[in-house]
Amino acid sequence: MATYLVTGCAGFIGFRVTELLLQEGHQVVGVDNLNHSYDCRLKQWRRSQIDGRDGFSFHQLDITDRGGLSRMWEEKGSRPFAAVINLAARAGVRDSVENPWEYLETNATGALNLLDLCRRYGVGKFVQASSSNVYGQGSLPSREDAVTDGCISPYAVSKKAAELLCSSYHSLYGIDVTALRFFTVYGPAGRPDMMLFRCVQRISEDRPVLVYGDGSQSRDFTYVDDVARGVIGALKPLGCQIVNLGSDKPVVLNEAIRMIEELVGKKARRESRPPHPADVEDSWADIGKARTLLGWEPGLSLHQGLSRMVEWYRQNRSWAREVITA
Ligand code: NAD
Repeated sequence: MATYLVTGCAGFIGFRVTELLLQEGHQVVGVDNLNHSYDCRLKQWRRSQIDGRDGFSFHQLDITDRGGLSRMWEEKGSRPFAAVINLAARAGVRDSVENPWEYLETNATGALNLLDLCRRYGVGKFVQASSSNVYGQGSLPSREDAVTDGCISPYAVSKKAAELLCSSYHSLYGIDVTALRFFTVYGPAGRPDMMLFRCVQRISEDRPVLVYGDGSQSRDFTYVDDVARGVIGALKPLGCQIVNLGSDKPVVLNEAIRMIEELVGKKARRESRPPHPADVEDSWADIGKARTLLGWEPGLSLHQGLSRMVEWYRQNRSWAREVITA
């Protein structure tokens, strides 16, 4: 059994990756700065699922704090980790337009700090969370070898920068690096700044649902447990790779809203906003590489995943109804 460093462990994807690693009998050192980029009740709930579990320890730390990370690493003994899984990030596309500095600092410099600690302490494997947003409005389905010079948002730029730093550290120091491009991840205890969480909450509570554009944009929605399995699958030696993790089944937003209406048993009251210039119109992953390299397949259909999400919401409604959704 191995010990892994998971950053962003109180985050949506990070807590599921942590849970799966612990279930497999591994040790996890979790790092998160517990920032207030969205309602912290979700981070608290996720932490309640992993805190105190055998093999888990938590450090409230910022990945931009090089000294703090270094001290934590030293405390653990200088070469403790089988791999670093960097899921910590500022993750909102639209918010990155308001505060691009924060995004570059966390997502690029934070990744660099962790890569450099891997170099310094001889950690041989680094898994980096990247995003479908690096594809911009390119041709679909998106393949990993597509040119990605057309990033629209500062968020996409920060993720591209992290990918490039990974590839640089592979070339210079031989660290095995895998950047995983996630496609619109959803599921129980998801992010309240994302469309599907907002829809489940607001439709359940008869509150208006904000929809950017006319809802005809499509997303390759991917269930969180499928993504967590993919992250763990990418821990094996792969050299220097970029791999898409998507469902390969894009769904139009209006159709996703219709499914939620059916599962909740209520109609959405829609409030329209103009399309946001930082959003891409459509996303769709080519997942051939994930299949070949990782033996990975998405497991759940959108309908199955949404029904788990709605069920989670029902069970947690007493507090989840109060969560601030934009
Ligand atoms: P999230 O915001 O729920 O999780 C990120 C976690 O990182 C949060 O708990 C936050 O507190 C923590 N964090 C932020 N800045 C930090 C810092 N400077 N130091 C330490 N911790 C910090 O987001 P998520 O949806 O779980 O995303 C996880 C990763 O996957 C991110 O890198 C994100 O960019 C990427 N990603 C997510 C999606 C998606 O649809 N959810 C899609 C593409 C890529």
